[in-house]
Amino acid sequence: MDNKKPHAVLIPCPFQGHINPVFKLAKILHLQGFHITFVNTEYNHKRLLKSRGPKAFDSFTSFSFETIPDGLTPMDGDGLPSLFQSIRKNFLQPFRELLSRLHDSASSGLVPPVTCIVSDINMSFTIQAAEEFALPNVLFFPASACSFLCISHFRSFVEKGLTPLKDESYLTNGYLETKVDWIPGLKNFQLKDVVDFIRTTNPNDFMLEFLIDMVDRVHRDSTIILNTFDELESDVINALFSMFPSLYPIGPLPLLLSQTPHNHQLASLDSSLWKEDTKCLEWLESKEPGSVVYVNFGSITVMTLEQLLEFAWGLANSKKSFLWIIRPDLVIGGSVVMSSEFINEISDRGLISSWCPQEKVLNHPSIGGFLTHCGWNSTIESICAGVPMLCWPFFADQPTNCRFICNEWEIGAEIDTNVKRDEVEKLVNELMVGEKGKKMKQKAMELKKKAEDSTSAGGCSYINLEKVINEVLLKKN
Ligand code: UDP
Repeated sequence: MDNKKPHAVLIPCPFQGHINPVFKLAKILHLQGFHITFVNTEYNHKRLLKSRGPKAFDSFTSFSFETIPDGLTPMDGDGLPSLFQSIRKNFLQPFRELLSRLHDSASSGLVPPVTCIVSDINMSFTIQAAEEFALPNVLFFPASACSFLCISHFRSFVEKGLTPLKDESYLTNGYLETKVDWIPGLKNFQLKDVVDFIRTTNPNDFMLEFLIDMVDRVHRDSTIILNTFDELESDVINALFSMFPSLYPIGPLPLLLSQTPHNHQLASLDSSLWKEDTKCLEWLESKEPGSVVYVNFGSITVMTLEQLLEFAWGLANSKKSFLWIIRPDLVIGGSVVMSSEFINEISDRGLISSWCPQEKVLNHPSIGGFLTHCGWNSTIESICAGVPMLCWPFFADQPTNCRFICNEWEIGAEIDTNVKRDEVEKLVNELMVGEKGKKMKQKAMELKKKAEDSTSAGGCSYINLEKVINEVLLKKN
């Protein structure tokens, strides 16, 4: 054990879309010489061990895992607000205790003394813990800069009376088309493009209140890092700078990591909570370059059976090949059995699986397009692979990302919320063989190149990471 190493404690918010980028960051810091303690909830760590095998995380020196309870009881609902309420109420104390334990272990020479904390910004209780232990704390916002900009103005939405909505009719009466022209950095924005936690009729909406409080807790001089890059969101990033001067875009993290040389052992360390089916990669081998539509709605999105069937028949009728990941809990109210009529229709043209190694899939030469819910990781992973998108945003930051994908970057087209098979068929064909699809592919490849430049030596994200490491994480208090 090299006790002179700097020791970073990293803690993601306990969702797949947050764990993945924080895990990448942990690997990057490990490669930069840090001893890493990665903190999961007990529940998620058990899931990781189940999906990766019980010994998957055993043999790493200088990269260890710790857990804290998520504080949920069987009486709590399993929705997003329950977990966020628990983060607010129950996480600080076990996190403090963990830091104390690590302090004791360091005194006994078992680990290097903890020198810094890198936490998901949603876990803002770490700000207090870092102050108590006199440690530098870097806050990681795991989604797009454009969604961070929206959230940073949530208080103004309330003050302007734009949220909470007066009643449910405001969701359908055209109100969401109201212009939002008072946030510098956002062009031609409407209420429907804003991170959708403002679409509430509840005057005490917990998520809205949680996010406003989160932004309030962030000090003006807090160091904030983002999984995006300057050239992708420059106007938005400039606008954010005026609010948070210590803001560092260091993304895309998948490229920053892949461009740092590392060994097979570290590469095999993975943060997937579901067991991955790798057979789809073999299946992709049998397909022509750029011929397959990849369909995946991430880890949280759900849909009705009717919506699933519209997607299914739209894909089947497009006559294009597709790889479709249907999580066991994707459809509200139970698992899906596709009809034999559908299975016969798609024959070897379609493959359905339950979870896949998404980055490997997106980078496979057979993939020509991505039908996505526009989660930020999916979006940035698609950009890293130069793959254009069809967008079906579900909630949270996804409508905001969709707006940028389709209108700012012009690398995607949107599918109506009320999805219909004819529209899916038409858009899939446009994406895969149409003129619009060709233009979107070209722009996606241009963005991929810019992302590579940003993360390679001398690029903006590369330099920003060096600054964060040298000026914040390695700074002595
Ligand atoms: N993912 C994966 N395999 C799947 C589905 C998703 O590896 O079959 C990964 C994906 O690469 C991404 C994350 O899970 O890193 C999903 O995050 P995202 O922000 O796109 O969406 P969320 O799940 O948070 O809605």
